[in-house]
Amino acid sequence: MTLEEQQLRDEICRWGRSLFKRGYTAGSSGNLSARLSDGFLVTPTNSCLGYLEASKLTKLDWNGVAVSGDAPTKEIPLHMAFYESRSQAAGVVHLHSTYATALSCLEDTDPEDTIPPITPYIVMRVGRVPLIPYTHPGSADTGALVRARAPDHAAVLLANHGPVVSGRSFRDAVFAAEELEETAKLVLLTRNMSVRRLSDDLVAELNQRRKS
Ligand code: ZN
Repeated sequence: MTLEEQQLRDEICRWGRSLFKRGYTAGSSGNLSARLSDGFLVTPTNSCLGYLEASKLTKLDWNGVAVSGDAPTKEIPLHMAFYESRSQAAGVVHLHSTYATALSCLEDTDPEDTIPPITPYIVMRVGRVPLIPYTHPGSADTGALVRARAPDHAAVLLANHGPVVSGRSFRDAVFAAEELEETAKLVLLTRNMSVRRLSDDLVAELNQRRKS
């Protein structure tokens, strides 16, 4: 095993523990992945992000076929869709985090802009987040729906399910997923209040600064 792979395995376990401890994910929900030079690492099916073991993470080849470790998460298509559509994606984080998932359940969430730009950070770290129509978890249709949006968006929100966020490194994907969740919380806290959204011009300027 290369040093790069060992470090990524450790990083996935460390950030999984951190996300779990801070309440970004519960039970066995959510899954994490990172790109390697010869495939991908992904968290196993039914694993709790708070108690991952580096040696048990699933290693997949470029075709998404498991080559070592425990059986992979059933939500692999969510991860593969980003790696196949975005050459710059090196990490993907999928959570059932509370506030973003709440927004994914609301009838009046704008399907083209689910997390409105009320702070600069959501624009710089994540960008505009479209809604993916509902499919059952593990459905064969989900991958194609995400793949259709991933070339133009670093993150998507699965209807009645939760966010999927990519980044230029695994750690960037974690930070972007945290930013998305915290902004969703602000959006819901300020719901029915007179919110001053960033203007289209300001959002356009901030989009230039984003590196995802
Ligand atoms: Zn899920």
